[in-house]
Amino acid sequence: MAWVWFFDLDGTLYTDRTGLWPAISERITLYLQKFLNLTREEALTLRKQLMATYGTTLRGLQALYPSTDAAAYFAFVHDLPLEDYIGPDARLAETLAALPGTKWVFTNADAAHAQRVLRLLGVEDAFTGVIDLFAIQGVPKPLPEAYQRALALAGHPRPEQSILVDDQRRNLLPAKALGMYAIWVTPEAEADDAVDAVIPDVYHLPEAWTRLVSQAGVSKEERTC
Ligand SMILES: [Mg+2]
Repeated sequence: MAWVWFFDLDGTLYTDRTGLWPAISERITLYLQKFLNLTREEALTLRKQLMATYGTTLRGLQALYPSTDAAAYFAFVHDLPLEDYIGPDARLAETLAALPGTKWVFTNADAAHAQRVLRLLGVEDAFTGVIDLFAIQGVPKPLPEAYQRALALAGHPRPEQSILVDDQRRNLLPAKALGMYAIWVTPEAEADDAVDAVIPDVYHLPEAWTRLVSQAGVSKEERTC
């Protein structure tokens, strides 16, 4: 079986403990304050509403203000000294090398940010490529079209041969509905029937994957008995 992996970037390939995602998140709030002239409280409230209604803050902004420039938005929110937060991660490289198949980064951010992160983590060679928001024509996870487009860009693997690894549960549900494997990376790991596996960090992936594949093998045998 030729497996095709789709990895979310922020919060998945590096943890929130690095402080990087909280810093990006802070700049998203700041972007709303600055460009819409809002107080911090108002910006936080708007962000929550946009996320709930549109899936991402950017998509919400584009819906409300069609002139919103995605590239300028990304340049602003990612304008951080990334090297102060993340560095070479040999354990991540080993983890990725232990997983069979092709690996893509599948992110709602832009490829320039993703490439910077991968380079700093020292894992850029582990991936076939980056599928970013522009590659999926501006339609982000968790909208179902995003997953269809990502699969198409990865060469049309069958969903059953594909795995999404993401730190956002709501991003995993459409993948699961399509027939992909869905693996949730969350520090508050608890079993969840909506996904195939829940792991506290990406380093637990090889172990979780071995378990999943062996379970799938067992149930296949059961079906043929
Ligand atoms: Mg994420």
